[in-house]
Amino acid sequence: MNDGVPRLRHLVVVFGDQLNTGSAAFADFRRDRDMVWMAESAVEARHVWSSQQRIAFFFAAMRHFAQALRELGRPVHYRELGDDEASLWDLLTEDLARLQPRRVVCVQPGEWRVREGLVQVCRAAGVPLEVRPDRHFMDTPESFRRWAEGRSQIRLEHYYREMRRRHRVLLEPDGSPAGGAWNFDRENRCGFGKDGPPDIPPPLRFAPDPLTGEVLRLVRRRFASHPGNLASFGWPVTRAQALEALEDFIAHRLPLFGRYQDAMWSGEPFLFHALLSAALNVKLLDPREVLSRAEQAWREGAAPLAAVEGFIRQILGWREYVRGLYWWRMPGYAARNALGADQPLPVFYWDGETPLACLSEVVGQTLQHGYAHHIQRLMVTGLYGLLLGVDPRAMHEWYLAVYVDAVEWVELPNTLGMSQYADGGLMASKPYAATGKYIQRMSNYCARCPADPAAATGPRACPFTTLYWDFLLRHEERLRANPRMALQVRNAGRLSAEERAAIRARAAQVRADPACGGLFPVSSLF
Ligand code: FAD
Ligand code: SF4
Repeated sequence: MNDGVPRLRHLVVVFGDQLNTGSAAFADFRRDRDMVWMAESAVEARHVWSSQQRIAFFFAAMRHFAQALRELGRPVHYRELGDDEASLWDLLTEDLARLQPRRVVCVQPGEWRVREGLVQVCRAAGVPLEVRPDRHFMDTPESFRRWAEGRSQIRLEHYYREMRRRHRVLLEPDGSPAGGAWNFDRENRCGFGKDGPPDIPPPLRFAPDPLTGEVLRLVRRRFASHPGNLASFGWPVTRAQALEALEDFIAHRLPLFGRYQDAMWSGEPFLFHALLSAALNVKLLDPREVLSRAEQAWREGAAPLAAVEGFIRQILGWREYVRGLYWWRMPGYAARNALGADQPLPVFYWDGETPLACLSEVVGQTLQHGYAHHIQRLMVTGLYGLLLGVDPRAMHEWYLAVYVDAVEWVELPNTLGMSQYADGGLMASKPYAATGKYIQRMSNYCARCPADPAAATGPRACPFTTLYWDFLLRHEERLRANPRMALQVRNAGRLSAEERAAIRARAAQVRADPACGGLFPVSSLF
């Protein structure tokens, strides 16, 4: 007791990606004894050079969540961004000294660094810390580890089937997969062809309310030099909005999701994608409700099985898989660099200033909306980094900074493992290496580009195509040992000495000026 006032029992620390009123942190919450603690920090926003969209999304969602908690009668101590440069840990240390809770309670953070920071701050303050499991996810790090450690090689397909069985998703009553197959990829992943996409229902966007408006003004003032802008901000920042966004996707875009999952088109940043990753990652949505709405749409005949299975695979498969892998392999995972890549990240990744159409389009929409879909991230910006040989750490910091859905447990394995092959094949069975012809097949970008996707050398060589061959030549030894790369390595082996020299010379020009991809001066080509 302290002046007759009972001492605070639990200080429940809620980070920006833990906005779930039903989380384990609240399991035994007592409004008369406990208090929620949330904080905005400029240091967190600058830990990687976060885009304005990402900062605004997190702060707006956090402020709305604090309001929702207060409406539930749960006291919240919310530290709005001050004019200082205080870190989360400075703020928490100050409040632990002032509030003197008996215990700090928190759900497992989404980033190794944050978990370590929290442990240290509590230890230094002499306050016991209780970290509770994150019930949002459908697997636990411990169960993933048991699954992974029993195998010589881990692959998504095996994990995904097990998750389908375990959670009884898209199964027939006898336990076999709905429709007789686990995977309908053959029916999915088409390009749009010359006519372009069919009518695309525009996704639901949410006009900023006064609380979000305040955050947008704050971000414009405090983070004016950060990448991107806020003109288009329309992300769901409350649970009600996230549920509306889910219904909008199920009704309007899910039926064509699978077929056009990998396609890209100029001026169409969203296509048939869900735009739900940010709401899921801050826990405004529960993956179970998303999966069950998608499955229901199929059972009611509102969406084909191939589309629904393709969508469910992303959430029950990939999303859980990358989280398991992250906690299994951290902290060493972040330092992996299997290909010894050491080039700097091209400057145009931060401003979109490049004449190369695919990169200009993808980086441009990323800065404008804080969004690009999976194939844009993997096969445009990711592929260019892989082929150039950019240091995977720099790639990782860029992806973590620019997307509204970026939280390290999901971003790092996707970037370092899937897109950069920096983990040497733990996540992906082979590097996602391709020429500009892949981008030409899946989009209309090449039609307005000064480069020619078919050319590896010559004045109009596409830098992706040049660098693809250069990549195979540089890593020939290593890739030869991978049976899934055999054909590509054999093809590279057929290049004559002159062709190899020309590719290497052109690749050096690309590396000297990656924004122009060796096409310099671009104006001389027309
Ligand atoms: P859709 O394409 O409509 O897919 C539906 C849902 O499936 C998504 O909302 C997401 O929750 C899940 N999903 C799809 N693919 C993946 C995947 N590979 N890993 C995990 N979940 C997946 N996703 C993030 O949520 N945060 C990130 O920081 C992130 N960084 C990435 C970095 C790189 C280099 C790459 C290649 C992919 C990254 N992804 C990331 C995965 C994927 O690109 C996004 O989840 C997806 O583009 C989000 O858009 P959407 O909601 O419209 O997804
Ligand atoms: Fe991209 Fe090459 Fe196509 Fe230009 S030609 S849009 S650089 S793939």
